[in-house]
Amino acid sequence: MFNVVFVLGPPGSGKGTICSKIQENLGYVHLSAGDLLRAERERAGSQFGALIESHIKNGSIVPVEITCSLLENAMNLHKTANGFLVDGFPRNADNLSGWSKQMSGKVHEQFVLFLSCPVDICINRCLNRGEGRTDDNVDSLKKRVETYNNQTFPIIEHFGKLNMVRKVDSERPVEEVYEDVVKVFEAANQM
Ligand code: UDP
Ligand code: MG
Repeated sequence: MFNVVFVLGPPGSGKGTICSKIQENLGYVHLSAGDLLRAERERAGSQFGALIESHIKNGSIVPVEITCSLLENAMNLHKTANGFLVDGFPRNADNLSGWSKQMSGKVHEQFVLFLSCPVDICINRCLNRGEGRTDDNVDSLKKRVETYNNQTFPIIEHFGKLNMVRKVDSERPVEEVYEDVVKVFEAANQM
């Protein structure tokens, strides 16, 4: 059984930044669903490249079979990890049901780390981060935020009802956010 922590929050809430720090210090392997999709998009011979790019640009969500298989393959490369940070997934009900179908019995979902940050600040961060992403522009960001509000936030609420959400305010400087994140992991791993 692989331990899994889902890391969710609006685009630009700091998921990638915080996950790198957790990976560095706590022995969890960081798997960004978005990064895995971008790598698949670039892979020579991939049949999904164009489909993935059109979803990324539109801020819509790639069919779960693709994303979930990329995640599972990546997990199987790190069988001795303490656990996995699944960053930016599941983003909608289809993602969640596809994941449950494919992964039940193989994973233990520990909790959901919810990085909470006001959307206007998140958008500014994305516009200023200069990573050259095809979706860090005003048009795509509008759509990504819409998708987040309509599809992803309800998934966080769903996990909330199961008492699985650990919310951290990520509007603050990275070091402060990370300090609270470490406390969440310490509490979870003592249980
Ligand atoms: N994406 C997706 N399924 C996922 C994760 C990402 O379809 O499970 C697509 C979606 O179009 C999203 C884009 O990839 O808008 C970028 O995702 P990423 O997580 O990199 O963006 P972030 O939220 O970190 O800014
Ligand atoms: Mg990211």
